[in-house]
Amino acid sequence: MNKERLKVKCIGIDEEGKGIVKLKGKEFHIANLLEDETAIIEVVKNKNMETVKLIEMEEESKYRVKPSCPYFNKCGGCQIQQMSYEGQSKFKQSKVEDLLGSFCKVNEILTMEEPYYYRNKIHSTFSHDKKGQIISGFYQENTHDVINIDRCIIQDSKADEIIETIKGFMKSFKMKPYDEDTKEGFLRHVLIKRGFSTGQVMVVLVVASKIFPGKNNYIKALIKKHPEISTIIMNINNRKTSVVLGNEEIVLYGKGYIEDILCGVKFQISAKSFYQVNPIQTEVLYNKAIEMAKLKGNETVIDAYCGIGTIALIVSRKVKNVIGVEVNKDAVKDAIKNAKQNNIKNAYFYNDDAGDFMVKLANENKSIDLVIMDPPRSGSDEKFLSSLVKLSPAKVVYISCNPVTQERDLRYLVKNGYKVMEIQPVDMFPQTAHTEVVIKLER
Ligand code: SAH
Repeated sequence: MNKERLKVKCIGIDEEGKGIVKLKGKEFHIANLLEDETAIIEVVKNKNMETVKLIEMEEESKYRVKPSCPYFNKCGGCQIQQMSYEGQSKFKQSKVEDLLGSFCKVNEILTMEEPYYYRNKIHSTFSHDKKGQIISGFYQENTHDVINIDRCIIQDSKADEIIETIKGFMKSFKMKPYDEDTKEGFLRHVLIKRGFSTGQVMVVLVVASKIFPGKNNYIKALIKKHPEISTIIMNINNRKTSVVLGNEEIVLYGKGYIEDILCGVKFQISAKSFYQVNPIQTEVLYNKAIEMAKLKGNETVIDAYCGIGTIALIVSRKVKNVIGVEVNKDAVKDAIKNAKQNNIKNAYFYNDDAGDFMVKLANENKSIDLVIMDPPRSGSDEKFLSSLVKLSPAKVVYISCNPVTQERDLRYLVKNGYKVMEIQPVDMFPQTAHTEVVIKLER
């Protein structure tokens, strides 16, 4: 083993928020180092492996701040809290410009006025610490060790209070946290969802067994302490897995779902369905996407990768017809239900792979005016994109949470007759390295 200390200057920040330094032509990525900062690092050579560690900061960036969360270095949920919000926005802006700037000028990122407490979905894992105390929080990055977290600055603070209450109840209700190794104990996780515009709160108790002694008193006590809770669900998960939710659900209190309103449309949200986690910025994102589409009212629109149909249902009021396609069966069921609830009759939803579905539409020579697409992080695929080109809508609005795969897909579309007209980054996830981008293309 061979150790060496060197002074380095950080030349940029990678996708995960880590600082990039170059040493003898090789690139290294170091956590908690910002662009333009100089630092002393240690390079350890062990056989063919080289690792680097930050030893001491020398010159700090003007964007460096003290992270406001005490768990920042351990948790891994946020990556860039050591940057001021101004610094974070600049970082995201230049990331998008580097990746997509060659297609067209990039608009200034739409930031959040209050970049904290924005998450409407909160998950906490229950466990014991080494002294046997009950703890609840998140898994430490890349491990299965729970770190105790009482307060998280990016999630709804009401949810933190409810989790504290649940933790406090453990002793008086003789409830034990589940132990993954010995398979003893009861409570594994608590999931909380909150409809920001309705105030409705869902509490999901993920437990290892259906037998819940003292259930009625427990529910009574929890509701008494937090009358804002609208529904409590027991989810049974007794498998050895890092997946939070099991298959079986029992509604203990209320309707088993909550509602939220986005851009004037009401959505039912169940324990399992996907719903955007930052509703304030989701409205900003959707409004920008709709503005880009410049709708006249007579269009037939596809909402590909539609989830529970949020975009399709919001757009339906401004167009002739909208067709949503989504691979997750439960999400499609929610989308159909949401259309009925809102009395929307011009929205049609299909449970299919978006690529396969597009191939079918292309073979039928269907006439489509606009495609709105919002694929997962892995992006779209050639099956989808080639059929899109064949269907040849005049406009495409492409929303993505991963500008790397978006860039790849844009290259395909540009090569096949589309032009990028507008690029708009939106900050959906302050304090984290993630960036959302909405792009308008025209044939
Ligand atoms: N537009 C929605 C959901 C976006 S998340 C919203 O704003 O809420 C991406 C969605 O793509 C997820 O719901 C996921 O289930 C779906 N998905 C992933 N792969 C897919 C595929 N191959 N075909 C169709 N849908 C897919």
